Parts: sequence; C-alpha cells; structure tokens
Amino acid sequence: MTENKIHPESHMMSYGYDPSLSQGSLKTPIFQTSTFIFNTAEEGKKFFEMQKDPNCIEKTGLIYSRLNNPNLEIVENRLALYEKGAEDAALFESGMAAISTLLLEYLRPGDLLLYSNPLYGGTDSFINNILTRYGIHILGFKPNDTEASIISLVEKSGLKDKLRMIYVETPANPNNTLIDIDMCVAVGKYFSTPEKKIYVTCDNTYMGPIWQHPLAIGADFTLYSATKYLGGHSDIIAGVCMGSKLEISRIKKMRTNLGGMSGPHTAWLLSRSLETLNLRMEKQCANAQFLAKYLRNHSKISKVYYLDIFEDERQAAIYKKQNSAQGAMISFDIIGGESACFKFLNKLKLIKLAVSLGSTESLMQHPYTMTHSSVAEETKKEFNITPNLIRFSVGVEHPDDLIADIVQALL
Ligand code: PLP
Repeated sequence: MTENKIHPESHMMSYGYDPSLSQGSLKTPIFQTSTFIFNTAEEGKKFFEMQKDPNCIEKTGLIYSRLNNPNLEIVENRLALYEKGAEDAALFESGMAAISTLLLEYLRPGDLLLYSNPLYGGTDSFINNILTRYGIHILGFKPNDTEASIISLVEKSGLKDKLRMIYVETPANPNNTLIDIDMCVAVGKYFSTPEKKIYVTCDNTYMGPIWQHPLAIGADFTLYSATKYLGGHSDIIAGVCMGSKLEISRIKKMRTNLGGMSGPHTAWLLSRSLETLNLRMEKQCANAQFLAKYLRNHSKISKVYYLDIFEDERQAAIYKKQNSAQGAMISFDIIGGESACFKFLNKLKLIKLAVSLGSTESLMQHPYTMTHSSVAEETKKEFNITPNLIRFSVGVEHPDDLIADIVQALL
C-alpha cells in the first residue's frame, strides 16, 4: 500500500505525528506552550530569517505559538490532505478570523470585491460594514446571474480595473442557494491580466471537504467555519483557509500580524474531530435525506429548501456539476410567520434551539431574527430569508426520533 493511495479518512488518526518524539503516546499530546526553546542562537536567527522572507514558503522550525505550534501544524497537514487540490492550510480561532484575515491580506483601499448573495450574516456584515470603511468597493451578484450578466455588472460599475477578488458561499447559508464556482472561475479569468490575477475564494463550510471541491474546480481558496462539520461536536470555534503553499504562506504571515491563529487545545480537539468527519457527515446526510421527504409532505410546511428536489433548472444544473451529495442542512417555511415559527421552536424537545450547524446534535433556529438579523431587509426579502423560515442542521440522532420531535412541535 503506497502512502498516496490511502484515502484521507484513513490518514486522519495519525498523519503528520511521530509518537517517538512524544514518549510513544498514541495520541498527539497538547503542546500547551507559548514558546519553543532553540537549540542554538544561530538556529533562532535562521528561523526568524525564514519568517521575514516574503518568498519563503517552507515551514520554519518552532518559534512561538502565534506563529506555529505542533498541534496547529498537524491539523493543517491533515486538512490539506482532505481538501482536494490543497497544498496547505492555515488554521484560525474562528471562521470569521479566517475570512477577515484572507480579505485583509488580498484587498487594498480602492480595490473591488465581487461577492455572491446571500452570505452568512457575519460575512455579509464584514463585507458591507467593515471593508467599506477602508475604502474597498463591493459589488454583489445573484445566484442565477450568468457569466455574461456578471461581466456586464462589473463593467458597468466602472471599477473593472480594480477587481481583485470574487468571493462565493455555496450552498449559501441559510437556504442552500447554489453558486456556480466554475462560472466564477471563468469570470475571474476574464478580468485577470498578466500583471494582476483575480482570486476566487469559496466558503465551503456546508459541503466540504467531502461533497464539493472548489480548488479542484479552479478556485484559489477554500474557507471554512471549522466550528461546523470539521469540528462537529459544538465544543470549539475554529476556522480554516486552504490553497496553494505560496498563497497560504502569505495568509499565515497576515495571521501572525493579526493574531487570529488557533490555540493548541482547539487544534487538538479538531484533530480528534477529523477522525470521524466522514462517518458523521455521511450519517447526517442520510438523516437529512429522510427528513426532507417528511417535511415536504407536512401540511403546516409550505416550502422546503434542500438539494434533493429543484424548482429551478439552473440550480439543478449547478448541483449536478459541483456536488456529490445533498448535505445535511435543510431550511423550511412554516405557515404563519414568526409567531408560528417561535411556537414551533419553543416546543422542540430533542432538537435544540440554537444557532450554529454541522454538529452531532440537531439544531434549529430562526435566521430572520437570529443569524441573518443584521442582513439588509431588501436582501433578506430577495433571498427568501423571511419570518417563516426555519434552518435545520441535521445531526446523527435516530431519524425516527427527530421526526417524532418535529410532529409534536408542529401540533
Ligand atoms: N461561514 C459560514 C457559512 C457560517 O455559517 C459561519 C458561522 O455560522 C461562518 C462562516 C463564521 O464562522 P465562525 O462562527 O466559526 O466564526
């Protein structure tokens, strides 16, 4: 059996860890230390020189836990193995730290960021309220916009020479709207010049690294809230950015400046979680397929947003092209608006009323007044984020128990 024939899930228990360096401990210890002892002053000098060199993409020796730490590096190496097309990963203490560090590294005042709608509320707020404070121009496009219509949108903005990055989230939080990654890569190529590359970034939190591979399609970066499926147990907040060695080394240097790296304990918990990522996601998806069918037939539910049945042909075509499973996130509209939704949420027993997603336990929340409350009213209206909408993160429980809980809460 050659190393590169082994599937990623088989590597998750041991890859990148040498027990002989840690008294034979089967599991990686937590390297709960802020700093590392250099063997010699010359070695310390060399490590710092490597860190300072903007062209150096090789990992330096261990210096200080804001720069590097064995727990971080082990998880980064395992994640880069899992993500098709990734050469390296940068781990952060939250998804928002990964997103903001990437955007601040690549965008300058005057640049244009083109982004897909809708987005997770925190990302939407960072782009609309924070980046714009620093003179960065922003331009949103819609899920079913075509390559030609997006090109025309950018050209009409008068800022085409300033375009620097295309940012997409697909499937989009909260109601599974799909964005065509391949089309975004083509738009990026259209506006790129020999002097200036337009980067394409994809938030892959809902699907990856199992069911969607943006880097293999041609995107430059994938981003994750590792708080979700990667962490999977609702006990950590973490984030990841993946891409080529060269670009990730740029992001790690910015991470050192902003200080948003993951701590060793978070990284260690994430390495525990990666061992069961595939198992958990498969079971959650199987549960979601079963539950979506049930929800579609309930008389108090007027609409279900899940990637099994499409009303829109374009969305169906994107799904076929870029996803290998429907995922484990379902949204649905309850007849009766906010009061009916709140009555339902307050009656749930097994399913917990909480924001976040992707964990072993099932969670439900009300995006309109919770995760997406900061999104502009017109945007919410345009993308069906209405007072009727419930977002359901399906866990690993027995599906019959989840259905029984929904039945009694809808009574
Ligand atoms: N991206 C998506 C799709 C999310 O759902 C979230 C959080 O819910 C984030 C990014 C931000 O991640 P974090 O909460 O880990 O900072």
